[in-house]
Amino acid sequence: MTKRIVAYRRIKPHHLEALRRDFHVDHFAELDSADDPAFRQAMAEAHGLIGAGIGVTPALLDASPQLEAIATISVGYDNYPVEELTRRGILLCNTPDVLTETTADTGFLLIMAAARRAIELAELVKRGDWQASIDERHFGCDVHGKTLGMIGFGRIGAAVARRGALGFGMQVLYANASPKPALEAEFGAQRRELDELLAESDFVCVTVPLTAETEHLIGAHEFSQMKPSAIFVNIARGKVVDESALIAALEKGQIRAAGLDVFEQEPLSPESPLPHMTNVVALPHIGSATHETRDAMAQRAVDNITLALKGEHPVSLVNEAAWAKRRG
Ligand code: NAP
Repeated sequence: MTKRIVAYRRIKPHHLEALRRDFHVDHFAELDSADDPAFRQAMAEAHGLIGAGIGVTPALLDASPQLEAIATISVGYDNYPVEELTRRGILLCNTPDVLTETTADTGFLLIMAAARRAIELAELVKRGDWQASIDERHFGCDVHGKTLGMIGFGRIGAAVARRGALGFGMQVLYANASPKPALEAEFGAQRRELDELLAESDFVCVTVPLTAETEHLIGAHEFSQMKPSAIFVNIARGKVVDESALIAALEKGQIRAAGLDVFEQEPLSPESPLPHMTNVVALPHIGSATHETRDAMAQRAVDNITLALKGEHPVSLVNEAAWAKRRG
């Protein structure tokens, strides 16, 4: 029997072709929601699901009785009920490592753009308002030699910090669930309690995953601990930050600026004041969005689902506990 895969959203023809060599593939290129009737119908027979950005609920799992494995084209898996998947013996695979450096580039882009006011001043040029030499009203602040505080010091956090320490001579502080002695030795990073890191850092950059523990990890109290000159950067997930507290901190000058790739609601609501604030650089969740990296992520997801449906251990398995009781 040929196993069936449901693929959704933008997956390139060569990846679909690779999957079709071994499996029957139903592709939903423009899927808006998991409630789409044709998608639901395909899921009733599917052994595998590959894509990114659709929340998987227990109701969808109930409607997918043959599902053996899910390959998300992302490293974050906050959209998936991991315990429920494990309970049912469904493998969940993600795409770590291949997006680390690109996402760290995005983090540094936001650090630089917010510090040097690059977007605001480029807009000034575009509007034709560059009519005299700029003066201190337009000056930014230095990045090199400053203190970079990383909240979350895993793959992406370390890659951002490495850029700061080795490229920009920054001192790196980190707050993380576990100590990272190898990174301390590599570029002199120092571990701090969260409040200490917030008080000491010139740049605060968040790279923790979104979990029940990290939801609204950064709120009014945390912004009140930061320097008024601090620049806050979030490349993790919007819900790690209490966005109304961030807006309040920016409005009252409790912090200098923010660089944001992720938001509590995505796409950003038209009512949000954030894109209109001159001290905010807002990007549309582009952390890993380069041709090369998105291709590598899709390839990793294809490898994961192919291995899983052939009964072999996937390259990147999130719920290792599901392996022993996997379906199929
Ligand atoms: P990772 O290697 O697992 O790193 C996450 C780090 O956060 C780990 O070091 C972990 O500590 C730490 N951590 C977890 N919970 C914590 C807590 N409650 N308090 C303090 N530290 C905690 O993951 P990654 O590959 O760097 O990715 C991180 C996140 O970035 C992803 O989950 C995703 O949400 C986000 N992301 C965003 C984009 C984007 O487009 N903007 C792209 C890629 C990823 P331990 O080391 O002790 O486990």
